Amino acid sequence: MENAAADDSYDVIVVGSGAGLVGALASAARGLKTLVIEKTEFVGGTTAYSGSGLWLPGNAAERRGGVDSGPDAARPYLDEIIGDDAPVALREAFLRVGEPMIDELETHEWLGEFFWQGVPDYFEKATGALAGGRTIFPQPLERAALGDLEPMVRRPQWAERSGADPGETMTGGQALIARLLLAFTATGNGTVRTNTALTRLLVEDGQVVGVEATSDGGPITLRARRGVLLAAGGYERNLELRQKYQPEVAGEWSQGAPGNMGDALLAGMEIGAATALLDEAWFAPGLVVPNERPVFYTSVWSGIWVNHAGERFMNERLPYDRSGHEILKEQRSSGGAAIPTHWVFDQRQVDNERAFASPPVAPQSTTWLDVDKFLAAGVFKKADTLEELAEVIGVPAGALVKSVEQFNEYARAGKDEAFGRGEAPWDKIIVPMCGSHEDGANPCLGVIDKGPFYAAQIVLSDLGTKGGLQTDENSRVLREDGSVIAGLYASGNTMAPMTGRIYPGAGGPVGSSMVFSYLAALDMAAAEA
Ligand SMILES: Cc1cc2nc3c(=O)[nH]c(=O)nc-3n(C[C@H](O)[C@H](O)[C@H](O)COP(=O)(O)OP(=O)(O)OC[C@H]3O[C@@H](n4cnc5c(N)ncnc54)[C@H](O)[C@@H]3O)c2cc1C
Repeated sequence: MENAAADDSYDVIVVGSGAGLVGALASAARGLKTLVIEKTEFVGGTTAYSGSGLWLPGNAAERRGGVDSGPDAARPYLDEIIGDDAPVALREAFLRVGEPMIDELETHEWLGEFFWQGVPDYFEKATGALAGGRTIFPQPLERAALGDLEPMVRRPQWAERSGADPGETMTGGQALIARLLLAFTATGNGTVRTNTALTRLLVEDGQVVGVEATSDGGPITLRARRGVLLAAGGYERNLELRQKYQPEVAGEWSQGAPGNMGDALLAGMEIGAATALLDEAWFAPGLVVPNERPVFYTSVWSGIWVNHAGERFMNERLPYDRSGHEILKEQRSSGGAAIPTHWVFDQRQVDNERAFASPPVAPQSTTWLDVDKFLAAGVFKKADTLEELAEVIGVPAGALVKSVEQFNEYARAGKDEAFGRGEAPWDKIIVPMCGSHEDGANPCLGVIDKGPFYAAQIVLSDLGTKGGLQTDENSRVLREDGSVIAGLYASGNTMAPMTGRIYPGAGGPVGSSMVFSYLAALDMAAAEA
């Protein structure tokens, strides 16, 4: 589908219609004729699935929310948690440009004002961490505002999975993508071509001058006078690449959008781009459910997670990317015996109607998890005693019983001596939604002794891979020798991340994707045609 007349020559081509739309809007708003090509039939990518929390330290929206914490306050936090895993110049650019980017976006009628909402930073002990966080969100938008563009926008993940009606009011990533699409179209300089997939980069005299693509099945060549921005997500849905770079991810476990197969990454590599951190992803636990991909799962309400030896190995309420990295570490150190991780809980979890309401699945929370259906499908196991449950899931019974008894002692004492569950602000975010445990002083620790007992399976899921093409602080793609590939830019999950191996807070992926696609647009606008 195309929303304006198109020809084959543009100032700027943006490959991918997720957070790259920010770069497309910024370039179209500067009078550059801009084309977005999108491989699938829908605009939005994983960004449309997201909650669209945007982790951006210091901006007008935060100040309106009463948070006054700019780049200087966030710098020590990022320095400490990223370390040497990503160039300092990238995070300096991120810190510098987040504020003017939000200022500019808010000038567009369709974007309106963003708002701050408290979500704790994910590394609560690092210097400069904020318990109220630095996450802002776009305002919701009525679906009807999209008019003729409405069918183009990718549905929320839960609606796509269940076929449910996505509702009249768009929130989170839906609202962000819809607002960006409307603003981009309103510039009069923007065209979107869906069902159009980059296959190769067009290079002349060492400079990228366009793309080769397939559009509705046929090959086309599209030229770009200023440059090409690769904003085509990660390679999370390409199992072959995952086997190569992330062998621990052994199944279709990702939450990423279906088009994200690493096409842009491969196209960049083909012309000599350097890469970094291809073994990384925005990891998350995934709860195995019947007959479909695992569900993005975090903030477990009760129970414990145990490895193949029947032992706990982490705080089960860690922020999801830290949690995923713990599972990965355990998988590596156990020689591949930690996935699936077993989530062992008792009848209390089942009796608490909202206890499966982990935030990302909240829209379906009270209805989606039918325990009987999950038991019938074999993804949940049930037994009258912990010993029997251990036998069913194949872990040593003595060890499982000991792990549960130990945890119960911690719960009664109100302190998880082993992993500190229930101490960090993030650990407590589901308490208002799912309720407190009352077995001891800590609302996050509940005794596990009310049979029958259950076990669910947790695998290593992700919200997208994050390793990719190396760039400089203007999003220009680099070769191995550090030289710039003229005319080529990358952002989002196609780009080697500014955040290195960590997830700083809610909105790290989309916030940084937006900033680096914005930076690419600024550079292309400043460049000679
Ligand atoms: C349920 C859920 C909730 C999340 N919540 C948040 C949140 O609140 N905040 C946050 O920061 N992150 C969140 N994330 C993570 C975040 O959504 C992604 O990491 C981020 O949106 C990726 O942005 P992107 O622009 O790099 O890629 P995408 O948004 O995935 O866009 C890439 C687009 O490129 C297209 N494409 C791929 N190949 C080609 C090709 N060859 N030619 C043309 N187009 C191509 C794809 O089809 C896709 O539409 C969440 C993820 C999930 C699954």
